[in-house]
Amino acid sequence: MPQHIPAWPNCLQPQTFSEPRSGLVRDFRYLQNNANLTPTWNQKSIITCLATQWPVALTDCLNQLKQIMIPYMEVIALQSGSSGNCIYVEAGGMRLLFDAGISGIQAESRLADHGRNIRDIDALIISHDHRDHAVGMGIYQRKYGLPIYVTRATLAVAQQKIRLGKMNDIRHFDAGSTFSVGDVQIQTIPTPHDAADGVVFVVDDGIHKVGILTDLGHAFDELDEILPQLDAVFIESNHDLEMLAGSFYPESLKARIRSSQGHISNLDAAELLQRAASPKLQWACLAHLSEESNTPELAIETHRRLLGDRFPVYCASRDSATPPLRL
Ligand SMILES: [Zn+2]
Ligand SMILES: [Zn+2]
Repeated sequence: MPQHIPAWPNCLQPQTFSEPRSGLVRDFRYLQNNANLTPTWNQKSIITCLATQWPVALTDCLNQLKQIMIPYMEVIALQSGSSGNCIYVEAGGMRLLFDAGISGIQAESRLADHGRNIRDIDALIISHDHRDHAVGMGIYQRKYGLPIYVTRATLAVAQQKIRLGKMNDIRHFDAGSTFSVGDVQIQTIPTPHDAADGVVFVVDDGIHKVGILTDLGHAFDELDEILPQLDAVFIESNHDLEMLAGSFYPESLKARIRSSQGHISNLDAAELLQRAASPKLQWACLAHLSEESNTPELAIETHRRLLGDRFPVYCASRDSATPPLRL
């Protein structure tokens, strides 16, 4: 995984401490989230550093630190791409799984590798009816007892195309609505992707918002409103335009991918982040990379070229899980 070593943040200059408390929370969150990137940065050294340089602020800082150490969000992309999608989000005490595009056994073992039990998942949430997102939903429900959150149209079309089998615990939501799992809010945003009733998601635990934005069709207008709110994002970065043009795919498939209902390119995704990501975005994880028309190196290079070092850029794998990404 690429490492991004943070520079000492500008917001942590001494004058910060004359700002309202929200400024301190932001500064500490920055430090907390970047502290694990180098072995020398840890909470103790943050406190020591603050104590040395700004002793007046120490008590206030420690109180703030205590408050923000408790809530966190953790995300693991178990797999992402046309061969299967499944993203795990732990937030607000809830354990959520977005999409069931890999086998139950794979999901179970990749979660177990990170100390999680698939049977503890509180909600399996399905984005759209395509096989790489929906194929395992019946198995996950029957074998592990997971409640499935899905729109009526997505379920109906998925059942026509895929043998999902009998499912017991279905909880419908409408595309465009926001629903809750525990105290966590899941905002759903309809997409122009070529599915029956596809959506993307913003997960909000009241402190952080993470976007799960794949199978977008194109960089549609609403994304420019969503991106600035996010603290972290999984974003589709499906193909490199030149690699796609030179790939062995039939022209009809190339046209589908490039169309306004297909998948967005590395350049589309990087331009979207460039114009719409706010300074509070802590990381982006590129997702749904094409096997034939992209490479992780090329995707990251395209993003780096447009975005510089504004935030760390990671890449979800087509055949394995990412390390846990924290907020
Ligand atoms: Zn897909
Ligand atoms: Zn799709």
